[in-house]
Amino acid sequence: MKRREFLKSSIVAGTAGVLLDACTPPGSEQIIPLLIPEEQFIPGVEEFHATTCFECSGGCGLLSRKIDGRLVKVEGNPAHPIAQGGSCARGQALPQAMYHPDRLQSPLVREGARGEGRWTEISWDDALDRLTTELTGLSSDPSGLAFLTGQLRGHRSALVERFAAGFGGARHWVHEPFGDAAVRRAHLLAAGIDAFPAHDLEHANYVVTFGAALVEGSRSPVRFGRGLGHLRRGRPGQRGKLVAIGPYLSVTAAHADEWVPARPGSDAALALGLAHILVRDGRHDETFVTDRATGFEAFRERLLADYAPETVGEATGVPAEQIERLAHEMADHGPALVVAGDAAVTGPDGLATALAVAHLNALLGGFGRPGGLNFDPPPPFAAWPALEAAQDSESEPDSADSNTPRPLVEVLVDQPAGVGALLVAATNPFYTLPPASGVADLVAGIPFVAAFGSFADETTRWADLILPEPTTFERFDDDVPAPGVGRAIASLSGPVFVRPLYDTRSMPDVLLQVGQRLGDDMAAALPWETYEDALQDAWAGLHDTQRGSVVETTAGRFWRSALESGGWWDDAPEEPAPVEFATSDGRYQFDLAPLSATSGVVATTADRPFILHVYPSLAFGDGRSAHLPFLQELADPMTGVRWGSVVELSHMAAEEHDLVEGDAVVVASAQGELQARVRVVAGLRPEVVAIGAGQGHTDYGRYATDRGANPLALLAPPDPADGAELALVGTAVSLRKLYTL
Ligand code: SF4
Repeated sequence: MKRREFLKSSIVAGTAGVLLDACTPPGSEQIIPLLIPEEQFIPGVEEFHATTCFECSGGCGLLSRKIDGRLVKVEGNPAHPIAQGGSCARGQALPQAMYHPDRLQSPLVREGARGEGRWTEISWDDALDRLTTELTGLSSDPSGLAFLTGQLRGHRSALVERFAAGFGGARHWVHEPFGDAAVRRAHLLAAGIDAFPAHDLEHANYVVTFGAALVEGSRSPVRFGRGLGHLRRGRPGQRGKLVAIGPYLSVTAAHADEWVPARPGSDAALALGLAHILVRDGRHDETFVTDRATGFEAFRERLLADYAPETVGEATGVPAEQIERLAHEMADHGPALVVAGDAAVTGPDGLATALAVAHLNALLGGFGRPGGLNFDPPPPFAAWPALEAAQDSESEPDSADSNTPRPLVEVLVDQPAGVGALLVAATNPFYTLPPASGVADLVAGIPFVAAFGSFADETTRWADLILPEPTTFERFDDDVPAPGVGRAIASLSGPVFVRPLYDTRSMPDVLLQVGQRLGDDMAAALPWETYEDALQDAWAGLHDTQRGSVVETTAGRFWRSALESGGWWDDAPEEPAPVEFATSDGRYQFDLAPLSATSGVVATTADRPFILHVYPSLAFGDGRSAHLPFLQELADPMTGVRWGSVVELSHMAAEEHDLVEGDAVVVASAQGELQARVRVVAGLRPEVVAIGAGQGHTDYGRYATDRGANPLALLAPPDPADGAELALVGTAVSLRKLYTL
């Protein structure tokens, strides 16, 4: 044998040896996973599975595409009424979460001091034992257990409530930073319905947004984008008008026909100024206020006395003539629809703004008419077996038997004692709340903290036990999209793989397993072996209707078909259903109380002459998507920035403060400071500086950590009375130049 042939055969033999070796479990699975294919895997064949995106409250149905057993792409599910074949950038980036190198791969227990970031891998048996032991130690005082979650989706929320109730009355605290709490509370006060309404953009002619970042916001951009597209171009010969109100030229404002740069914090006054003109000129819906509303006379008096266009013009910085014109356009070119959101309802006067906008919609006769707003009927899920009432009638006000999770911002004001264990899921308050909020003090006082999640973040760092969750492609979950499109919709997803990639378990499954270990009371509250079983029981109610997008002969067939379809949705109604107000007298309430607190302005000082405006990022939402490199690589549509942050400043302010594009500056508030480069923009009020949310993580994987700046850390702690989890507007800041490039 020649030397060359010898070498060749050695390489082949060596390679074969490695390959043979690779076929011998267990170590080879780590090196070349596809050599040991999944069961039922057919090489080279594409597979599509319906799934759901949980990155925002849109609940879009997606189709995941696998090739050779590997997830390669997702697209919007064409059959899903919210997605209709579409998805946004955050949905498109989801496959990167599946194969992300920073994913949590097994349960971790803390080593060393809290916050040090040293962990040891443990088995699930060990993790469940530790969790069960901690909870058993609290059995004499069930309110010693607290859940801290984001706004949980689908039946996850109900399962946590049942666990808490079955435990005897554990507490449940909620922190959803860019949530809709103020809008929901406003509609609860006025309409008796605790929900974010569905907006019929498709049939409106005139849409006004108060701060609502419809196109780029953290609330269903696919749904809103499609609705706005239809408003503008979906009806040949008829083009609706979009007016965007807010101090910053957002992506939505850039798409609008008219941008109204009102002063920050003056949205409630402007909405009431528009209402004043409608009422003064008799252009409101008289039939609605007479037949369906209570309290209109007092509201009318207040409007006419306090919200004349000249007064409102002074408070808002919007000329009185423009306010008059806008109000008349709304009356003349209806159906008109008003939407409040994001910074306008997440800060001082947030509840007042949301309520003023609800009243404006009511004056326009918008509730229940085409081109107006409505409340989605809930999907007719079957009720889970009834729970026995919690034994302790004197339990804590935020315990589960009160049935209402308590906002974390309220809890932080109280700093309650006596909490022995905290279970954290789907929220990251160590990143989204300013240090002065007191979240670190609260957690430091709790002896045991366990955190669920697919990735470690700023909050899991302070846990004692980390319980890794599978991604959306590896678990069962459901969702009710909010806002919807005026009919009952339920999204559903199951695992698109035979087994999870890593040693992970979903939070509901872990609660069920811990419940089984805790014994009889919990077993009665949680009578299911798996979360899939619990979901199947609830979804049997949809099967029982024998209508909608999935109709089958048995509940089992229905479940499989619903999984294949990505959910169930009711037949579209021919006409929007009339809104049934759930107030005490069944009528819409022109409630005045929250309006009396409106300040109308945000104060600056000589030391801090700017107002900080924080807006949700199209790519990162509130920051939870910043770990995905695809989204870091995506240029922000307004600033062009990638992999970082800028502080946006108007031309006038830049000139006055001797700053130019690219200067490095320190932005400082009473809470702290950050550094960023200046971007001089045309679309900003001169007293405002704007920074997008989502960057500036200190502990969120290799792609997000130490990139850009976190403006949320500069915000004044929110006032619980504002009805929001953050004060996105209202923080006074200063700018200090560091150097010019
Ligand atoms: S709109 Fe929300 S739910 Fe839909 S794809 Fe985007 S992030 Fe996901």
